[in-house]
Amino acid sequence: MTKIRRIQPWRRFAEAVQAVILIGLPFLKIKGESALRFDIPTLRLHFFGTSIWMEEFFIVLGAVMFLTFLIVFITLMFGRIWCGWLCPQTVLIDFTRFVDKMKSKGLLYKAGALSLTLLISILIAANLIWYFVPPYEFIPQVMEDSPGNVTRGFWIVLSGIIFLNFLLLRHRFCATVCPYAKLQGVMFDNKTLVISFDPRRKEECMKCMACVRTCPVGIDIREGLSSACINCAECVDACAEMMEQKQKKSLIGYFFGLPGGTGRLLRHNALITGSAAGAFLIFLLFLSFSRVTIDMTILPNYASPPRITGGKTAVNSYILSVKNTGKSDTELSIKAGSTDEAVKVLPDKILLKAGEYKKVTVYVFVKNFGSKSLTKLIDISIESRETNKIMVTRKASFIIPEA
Ligand code: SF4
Ligand code: SF4
Repeated sequence: MTKIRRIQPWRRFAEAVQAVILIGLPFLKIKGESALRFDIPTLRLHFFGTSIWMEEFFIVLGAVMFLTFLIVFITLMFGRIWCGWLCPQTVLIDFTRFVDKMKSKGLLYKAGALSLTLLISILIAANLIWYFVPPYEFIPQVMEDSPGNVTRGFWIVLSGIIFLNFLLLRHRFCATVCPYAKLQGVMFDNKTLVISFDPRRKEECMKCMACVRTCPVGIDIREGLSSACINCAECVDACAEMMEQKQKKSLIGYFFGLPGGTGRLLRHNALITGSAAGAFLIFLLFLSFSRVTIDMTILPNYASPPRITGGKTAVNSYILSVKNTGKSDTELSIKAGSTDEAVKVLPDKILLKAGEYKKVTVYVFVKNFGSKSLTKLIDISIESRETNKIMVTRKASFIIPEA
């Protein structure tokens, strides 16, 4: 007896995991912040315990390059696996099919289905907003009817768009609106994983039309590949059930390229895009691990020109712009380095709160300057008082004026 291995239970499981992750991520707190959220007021991306500032968006650029090559690689190898198994649009439509069934049961059920669709749309819109406004703030604000006009406006507009998408587009979204679906055609080659009817076994087809009836986008897969196919594999299971009666396997299945095709799966275009994705991942990890949480720029303080004081001490003043992009308050020492002279800095310490940007006027005193040079370069450093680790060093011109 041919045992049917249904794909749909696995698909539903993957969809459920995806839904739990998307709904749960804003609630998951890491180091006091949502695991994934873009904070609009401070222009910061909270990403699993780290905060990426607008100025550090080269990290996000690295991530975008990595994801772009990863998507090209996955699409080249596995076709529309994302569309059929994980895309939020597919997940939502699959989990709300019961609403469609309700609509065909009379006026009362239809009104109930519409109300339910609206409620689901409002909840999904709120879930999207939680990626910008933390749910811990959003939910109490809604309870007190004070979410703010901008948040309220976005919520209403998003709910309306999602409601119309449910009502009018559903799976038509994939064939008409989705840009990824449109791009996929150019990424496929003759070894990409597709769902296909096996033409070598076409004589075995019972013409029961089960595959066509179950297809959410109304395709007859027996007529060949279609760009509208979302790779949901519903037709694979439908045919498997019919063919089970004949003790045979489904006539429709997953194939790398066309059924019966030959050739290597790891072809050169897959190797190139996969390697590029790997290289950008390494670059991204390097950027992430080498990023410093303290940054500083130095400008001369034109309000206090260089001068000589007490006979043989030269004083230069600078404005230090220091930023703490980390998630905790930190105490820092300011040091000026020089190899041969005695150097003093005032003030020599500052406290920077998490996320704080501060401008500090500092005075650098150099004694016993023996050099004939009137301008020399000195190092000004910021050091952690907790770990004594130098966080950042910048060069500055030190001018010794004529006495
Ligand atoms: S043809 Fe099959 S895999 Fe493609 S959308 Fe229809 S049911 Fe899903
Ligand atoms: S479900 Fe299978 S047997 Fe029935 S029409 Fe489709 S391909 Fe043929």
